[in-house]
Amino acid sequence: MSDAYNAQAIKTVKFGGSSLADANQFRKVKAIITAEPNRRYVVPSAPGKRNSVDTKITDMLYTCQKLAAESKPFDDVLEQIRNRYLEIAQELELSFDPTDELNIIAAKLKSGATKDYAASRGEYLNGLLLSDYLGFPFVDAAEVIVFSDNGVLMQEETMTALRNRLSKMEHAVIPGFYGATVNGEIITFSRGGSDITGSLVARAVRAQMYENWTDVSGVLVADPRIIPNAAVINTITYEELRELSYMGATVLHEDAIFPVRAAGIPINIRNTNDPDAAGTLIVADDSADSDAATGYTITGIAGRKGFCAINIQKAMMNAELGFCRKVLSVLEELGISFEHMPSGIDTMSIILHEDAIRGREQTVLSRIRKAVSPDSCAIEHGISLLAVVGRGMRRTRGTAARIFAALAHARINIKMIDQGSSELNIIIGLLDGDFEEAIRRIYGVFVDASMQPEE
Ligand code: ASP
Repeated sequence: MSDAYNAQAIKTVKFGGSSLADANQFRKVKAIITAEPNRRYVVPSAPGKRNSVDTKITDMLYTCQKLAAESKPFDDVLEQIRNRYLEIAQELELSFDPTDELNIIAAKLKSGATKDYAASRGEYLNGLLLSDYLGFPFVDAAEVIVFSDNGVLMQEETMTALRNRLSKMEHAVIPGFYGATVNGEIITFSRGGSDITGSLVARAVRAQMYENWTDVSGVLVADPRIIPNAAVINTITYEELRELSYMGATVLHEDAIFPVRAAGIPINIRNTNDPDAAGTLIVADDSADSDAATGYTITGIAGRKGFCAINIQKAMMNAELGFCRKVLSVLEELGISFEHMPSGIDTMSIILHEDAIRGREQTVLSRIRKAVSPDSCAIEHGISLLAVVGRGMRRTRGTAARIFAALAHARINIKMIDQGSSELNIIIGLLDGDFEEAIRRIYGVFVDASMQPEE
């Protein structure tokens, strides 16, 4: 057969665990795939939760492996896994039966199979099931996603393997989340890693679009737990998404961006439960009109709690050569990374994540005291960082003023401000107790005026 990629407008479609949690979700997935013939390469996750108290297949498989490693019985859990797949297959009137495969998995677990092997079987079995349901051939990810012996993805080898295989195929189902070393040892990505598989497949087949189907209608301007019914972002650049993800927005696995970004393939986040919604388009072009993002100056707001500040003060600090370097060397020697370093003339603060310093506070303080003999040096806990992200800020004056006016009206004290040279975001440090209200106020100013309380 000629190179199947020559056909235009190929789409790679990845479906997350909630999109494949039961037979009804499988039906929606099939309807989406058959609605567009160019949705040719399909990457499934393992069945996820059907409701908030349900357990993901991946987690059940980790449990089996843990029990097996402790020489405890795991048949009950394996039986639940079997029933999940069987129930889906029977409701869809398929002859697929995972029993034989599960017997092989059980035997391998009893003889010491790894966590990665166990977890990967969720996607493997779901891939077989979906391949049966769609009538698309199955390609085992162990044969096309290549890892080095120390567990690092080998991009070039993976591209070659995927291209060799898929160029001869009109359609395929390639399970997400795992691959293998050349010796056949199964390796998984970190959690949520099916997103990466989808991105790799999209790049390999030179897709025109990587559609990532999930259970929300796209990337939201703000966390819906803080802003119910938060607006959806129509278009966002890879850089903006990275800023928002770093600050806590959970949309895609962060490593999923790089393969498609390098090839200029846009990612479209779509909702399996609302397939008519356009979702969010993640694009490379940062000249893309910011108003197309949401119609607002900012693209998104995200933030995280759990930071602390090391506040250092010393008279004439500004005149002391190497002061900063000596302080940072202490952190470097202890292997502690920091987030921001706002400074005054005789003061400096180092903002870092609580996890980075937990249990070592006194060591850090005493080493800093020894290194630079400050007048005072103390740790302040309970700090949140909030990022207001938007490529439109570069061109719009007054964005910072609007943000800070909103916070001032709410009597929120700002502990730190940082605007990077990219002018893509403004990062604000505040107390944990002010975090949610700050997000509501900023959202109110830029997106939904009805959220602004009467002053
Ligand atoms: N099933 C895996 C997990 O639960 C991978 C994925 O869904 O992307 O993390």
